[in-house]
Amino acid sequence: MQSGKMKAVMKKHGAFGAVLAEVPIPEIDKHEVLIKVKAASICGTDVHIYNWDQWARQRIKTPCVFGHEFSGIVEAVGENVSSVKIGEYVSAETHIVCGTCVPCLTGKPHVCKNTAIIGVDTAGCFAEYVKVPAENVWKNPADMDPAIASIQEPLGNAVHTVLESQNAGGTTAIIGCGPIGLMAVAVAKAAGAAQVVAIDKNEYRLALAKQMGATTAVCIEKEDPLKIVSALTEGEGADLVCEMSGHPSAIAQGLAMAANGGRFHILSLPEHPVTIDLTNKVVFKGLTIQGITGRKMFTTWRQVSQLLGSNVLDLSPIITHQFPLEEFEKGFELMRSGQCGKVILIP
Ligand SMILES: [Zn+2]
Ligand SMILES: [Zn+2]
Repeated sequence: MQSGKMKAVMKKHGAFGAVLAEVPIPEIDKHEVLIKVKAASICGTDVHIYNWDQWARQRIKTPCVFGHEFSGIVEAVGENVSSVKIGEYVSAETHIVCGTCVPCLTGKPHVCKNTAIIGVDTAGCFAEYVKVPAENVWKNPADMDPAIASIQEPLGNAVHTVLESQNAGGTTAIIGCGPIGLMAVAVAKAAGAAQVVAIDKNEYRLALAKQMGATTAVCIEKEDPLKIVSALTEGEGADLVCEMSGHPSAIAQGLAMAANGGRFHILSLPEHPVTIDLTNKVVFKGLTIQGITGRKMFTTWRQVSQLLGSNVLDLSPIITHQFPLEEFEKGFELMRSGQCGKVILIP
């Protein structure tokens, strides 16, 4: 068992930013696993915490170590743990579920009513060590790049969003090309979409979307995405629209560009309630709207593993920056600017 101190990126006070600190290495419980972090990735959620926006102020208790997307090596296991062994190379599902509520008991733990999130409700992975419950551990193949292994959790969001319905041979539109949107482009392509239309206002990210397999990239500052999707589909619209922007106007456009009988999958978290034209854009179109949260445990993780392991997906273009943990501020500034894909911190 480890004892002693480790370096970690901490939110010490309720204010903008974070600090590098020395904190005790987490002590594990009987059912937990201690992992030495090899790579940790900065998520949009971490940027909310860093910025200390309204959501973070309501949700996060300081002081805390944050971060939740990682890969690493098992350093110690609790006395009741038999499924995970010291030395194994792992990542982790970040939703800690109760196992006893009705959704958990009926095969839907991704919508557990008592979900706690690593790095939000528990100590996170922007540190040399992180602890997680043994049942959250996901084992990685030995040859997987630690940076790639660290982004399987957000890739799982993209996989869950895109593969919630089959759209081979159809047109998939991805609205919002942040890192998960970029991954969704690659997943849609891998899943056999005939056309993948990537929509954003950020040219840097649209160029990445092209690299990830988008057949059309639409910059909303210059072009009308509705006109372009209509032209690409002979006026029918996109069979599947994945909403990853959270912007009310983009959501309205997304509903408008969906084909009659099509699907609209929402992974984004709009800050405020959004008004939509249910009558004309949903009911009369026979649209199916699906909210997406987390990853199916562990169906999505298995899909992620197999898509990466078979080289159907190559996520390396998305990992645009890597920094030592100590230089976390550079990583957060890049994330805040939007001039990056995934940013990895190496403890
Ligand atoms: Zn995340
Ligand atoms: Zn539950």
